[in-house]
Amino acid sequence: MTLCVLRFGVLPHFDRKHNAVLVPGPYAVSDSTRSFHNAAFVADMHADSLLWGRDLRKRHSRGQVDLPRLRDGGVDLQVFGVVTKVPRRRRLDSVSDDTDILPLLFIASWRSPATWFKPKERALSQAREMARLAEKSPLSLVLSRGDLSIAGIKGLLALEGMHALGGEEEALIELYSAGYRMIGLAHFFDNEFAGAAYGVDKYGLTELGRSLIPRMEALGITIDLAHASPAALEEALSLATKPIVVSHGGVKGTCPGPRNLSDAQLHSIAENDGVIGIGFWKRAVCDVSLKGIVAAIVYAVKVTGIDHVGLGSDFDGKIASPFDATGLPMLTEALFAEGLSKEDVSKVLGGNVRRVLATNLPE
Ligand SMILES: [Zn+2]
Repeated sequence: MTLCVLRFGVLPHFDRKHNAVLVPGPYAVSDSTRSFHNAAFVADMHADSLLWGRDLRKRHSRGQVDLPRLRDGGVDLQVFGVVTKVPRRRRLDSVSDDTDILPLLFIASWRSPATWFKPKERALSQAREMARLAEKSPLSLVLSRGDLSIAGIKGLLALEGMHALGGEEEALIELYSAGYRMIGLAHFFDNEFAGAAYGVDKYGLTELGRSLIPRMEALGITIDLAHASPAALEEALSLATKPIVVSHGGVKGTCPGPRNLSDAQLHSIAENDGVIGIGFWKRAVCDVSLKGIVAAIVYAVKVTGIDHVGLGSDFDGKIASPFDATGLPMLTEALFAEGLSKEDVSKVLGGNVRRVLATNLPE
């Protein structure tokens, strides 16, 4: 009884409240924009949709992403971020790892008791859910380079924070085998491998972290520096021999904030041939509107050039977004209005992300 209330009452209520859409669709764009957008390769580098236990095959009136809405939004590739530990955050400038609010969510979504308290089990269980989704829906999983060319909607699994490895280097292989092809060094707090932007000490890479960079590159896992401390970001960029991503974030030029990128960091990412995904939430863009998102994109393009900017919505990441996945064609229209060419808009929509993944993914 209690479990039913949690699953069908509390969880949907929480999901609806915390993954709000500020302006509900349908969203109007011109026919020419829509046909251009649908033909383009559109990639979003970050959505936490797996966390909520929603059946993503069905269209929901809550949250921001499911397969029908990805289709309406013309999305070709969705990177699914996997969250495995969320401490209570009283202040964002010093988050420690000694609390965890996820047990209730994993219990409420009727996941196995193994996942209730263990980040690695949560990572493996969400990977299994993703594999089942791919089996039972038109979504295909991206595991190797060739998978990027499969027609239809594709999903790539990404881990938010190496704390899920439990300090064991060998867990990297386990996660790779489970389908992970992108890994963020840190999430909200400092871990055994790297410091976090919101962490207590915000250190750079540890010795373990330094040793994992070449191993991740050799496996074909893309390194994600979203949430990394400035020191970890700098160190990872100096060690990386493959392009990195900052899957979801903002730029200090339009929105100051501890996790948003400075012009100097943007230059380093461009030098690495990496790509930053501009997010759709308050702390990433300050002005949570289509206009605010476009301003951040245009600013980042101005600093890095056109080849290093993409999308990283953070849909379903406990954020309020100005539109859900079906609203992405509006972004295309707004970028054209800013004077970007068709070629440039294609790069921002997904061309740049595709280039980086095609370089990094295993053959
Ligand atoms: Zn995140």
